[in-house]
Amino acid sequence: MRKKLVAGNWKMNTVANEASELAKGIVRSAAEFGATEALLCPPFIWLNLVGEIIKNSGVKLGAQNLFWEDKGAFTGEISAAMLKSAGCEYVIIGHSERRQFFGETDQTVNKKLKKAIELDLTAIVCLGENFQQRESGLTNSIISSQFENAFKGFSRFEKVIIAYEPVWAIGTGKTASPNQAQEVHNLLRGLLKQKTDRFDQILLLYGGSVKSDNAAELISRPDIDGFLVGGASLKVGDFVGIMKATIN
Ligand code: PEP
Repeated sequence: MRKKLVAGNWKMNTVANEASELAKGIVRSAAEFGATEALLCPPFIWLNLVGEIIKNSGVKLGAQNLFWEDKGAFTGEISAAMLKSAGCEYVIIGHSERRQFFGETDQTVNKKLKKAIELDLTAIVCLGENFQQRESGLTNSIISSQFENAFKGFSRFEKVIIAYEPVWAIGTGKTASPNQAQEVHNLLRGLLKQKTDRFDQILLLYGGSVKSDNAAELISRPDIDGFLVGGASLKVGDFVGIMKATIN
């Protein structure tokens, strides 16, 4: 059986004391998370701070991005080795905001994925269609193409998680219905089957305005194994509520 995972993507939010209070609050509730794994992805600058707070709590640490080169003259970038040495086990790759504001493409996602896996990080690869694509009936072809390009020349699926995040549902308050999300997750499961025998063990997360009141129904679907959460990961009560909704 696949484990469940809820990842909090803090994005560019929190100053030091806020990051610290948020992490402490989540750790205080960690005993109530059952078998669901909690993952915190704070801004790079708070990785050490948050890492210290969550140490020995079972709550995991991840980053929101990385660069594919090992080291050198890449001002402002962060390497996979840096993330490892800061205690990260996970890294988010290809979030739609990275694609929208920082020019990331399926090709850069592919390079980042390969570097993350080389350094033994678990990669959370994000993909999703925008509103126009969904309205035009292109969801399946967009997802398939993002998947094929992101995983081109790649076979090491042991440490891969895929997050389906319809762009129209991120930070908008609109959520994909459980059926819409399951349909895409089922498509992804099928695409994985063509690539790896481990297709049934790979976690598929849903992301897009997940809250404690919609999480239970979403997680009840067979191919939804957890969530990538933005806004609701910034309040202890909201994040803990989602964690609890995954336990049945
Ligand atoms: C996200 O940032 O990945 C996300 C899903 O954001 P939100 O939960 O705020 O929609």
